Amino acid sequence: MTIRIACIGGGPGGLFFSTLMKRYLPDSEVVLFERNQASDAFGFGVVFSDATLRKITEADPVLERVLAERGRHWDTIQVWLKGERHHFNGNGMSAIHRKNLLSALQENAAEADVEMRFGTFVPSLEGLDDFDLIVAADGANSGTRGQVGEEVLGHEVVQASAKFIWFGTTHMFDGLTFVHRQNEHGNFAAHAYPISDELSTFIVEADAQTWLDAGLDEFDVTQPPGVSDLKSKEYIERLFADDLQGDSVVVNNSRWGNFRTRSTDRWFNGNVAFLGDALHTAHFSVGSGTKMAMEDAITLANSVAEHTHDLHTALSQYESARKPDVARVQDAARPSLSWWEHFARYHNTLDPLQFTFHFFSRSISIDKIRNRDPDFVSTVENAWLNKHGNVPLSTPLRVAGSQVEQRFLIARNNSLYSGESRIELGGCDLAVLEAPSDEFDLDSSFSQLPDAGTVLVKGGTALTRRLLSEEARLGRGLTSIIQEPVDENSALTAVLSGRADAVASEES
Ligand SMILES: Cc1cc2nc3c(=O)[nH]c(=O)nc-3n(C[C@H](O)[C@H](O)[C@H](O)COP(=O)(O)OP(=O)(O)OC[C@H]3O[C@@H](n4cnc5c(N)ncnc54)[C@H](O)[C@@H]3O)c2cc1C
Repeated sequence: MTIRIACIGGGPGGLFFSTLMKRYLPDSEVVLFERNQASDAFGFGVVFSDATLRKITEADPVLERVLAERGRHWDTIQVWLKGERHHFNGNGMSAIHRKNLLSALQENAAEADVEMRFGTFVPSLEGLDDFDLIVAADGANSGTRGQVGEEVLGHEVVQASAKFIWFGTTHMFDGLTFVHRQNEHGNFAAHAYPISDELSTFIVEADAQTWLDAGLDEFDVTQPPGVSDLKSKEYIERLFADDLQGDSVVVNNSRWGNFRTRSTDRWFNGNVAFLGDALHTAHFSVGSGTKMAMEDAITLANSVAEHTHDLHTALSQYESARKPDVARVQDAARPSLSWWEHFARYHNTLDPLQFTFHFFSRSISIDKIRNRDPDFVSTVENAWLNKHGNVPLSTPLRVAGSQVEQRFLIARNNSLYSGESRIELGGCDLAVLEAPSDEFDLDSSFSQLPDAGTVLVKGGTALTRRLLSEEARLGRGLTSIIQEPVDENSALTAVLSGRADAVASEES
């Protein structure tokens, strides 16, 4: 059957969808509208982890090919701070300049006979009445989403408080590198990785107060798109001069922004289906936005090809197949985004090695880190042993006035046990705090923290318990125990990373 499909947006999601659709249904008409010219590309590079490429490559080897030909590949993530450099091996990843990715996807679409209309802005759905299916791949600020109605779609946006700006640099980093710097205004961090033989991506983050204190809010945001914040470029170049070894920072529509996490309940309305950033975003520290957009494209094209006669079924099938995968990525991105909201605290309270372990364990526990890089974990464990004279979970600790001999405790019937010995809590300086279920409600929990002693943090979510424990321990100098259903690996991760002094596993 011949159907007419319009795709609004020629980013990675729209280009990949249109190509696959035309291949699966060669008799269909697929027209892609992109407001920019084919050669325009804002931003610098995108990262893909090796583990995430399989599904995309099975659908079309274009990404794997262009990464091999024009991208950069590495296995090691580095963290640089306070004059130390720590390495975490076993993390296969590739990156490519967005411009090169788009041009490969455009060539692929041209070969598949997609009709691409560059320099064509679609102002409204009204002009697309002739099409059977309209796919809105028009990015995070999707105008189509606004026309269909964000309430109709159940679209939600949560804005992070940290500020970020997307630069490039002529300095060639050796794989993904996180560079931390502190000055009189506060803490800054860069996410840097090579994307070609001449350029690395250099995304810089800072908390809002640091950004204000540094006077980086002075850029006139009414400047037209494309104009970069040059004052910030110079500031960042000075701040990271030693790390960049005299190489320059490169701008491309570079302005400060706040990351917005987007999620959407209903992925289509009538014959208008959405994909990619128009529906969902995940913090860039997990490098998954492009991958998710391309995976949406695969499932949507497959579902439409399978149910060409019944688009409602096709779109329902697409939505129910993709939503759980996207939710998993967004769930993993949440603690990562939170880490980046608090990195100044970790920088100021943890030594560089523990800081690095804390960072790498923000979404995964020690067993997974050990599988990838046993030497790194041994280094972290040996550093603890040298400092404390004992392995982490058997390091004695004072809890509510008494000495306990281990840090993996049991919580049973509102009491704490170290092995079979009950820890006497009555009358001692132990405050039990319920973490909230939403991290935006943490301030009221913080106000209940005592001035001294031990806190037992329970309830809430894994993330709110962790943030409350960190406020107690790293922010107020209290002894903190997290009570949750944990195994030994999670307990070890929490103690070794400095998130808690001890962990109490719940037992009914
Ligand atoms: C700082 C930062 C770093 C990132 N790093 C990574 C990373 O390392 N790895 C990764 O996988 N992802 C990364 N991402 C996310 C990634 O950029 C996006 O998830 C991805 O580009 C989404 O693809 P898309 O096709 O859905 O939308 P987009 O790439 O945004 O494409 C949308 C297209 O639609 C066009 N358009 C919009 N409206 C119209 C209209 N009305 N008419 C015609 N054309 C229109 C736009 O011009 C644009 O070309 C990062 C994001 C940010 C902010």
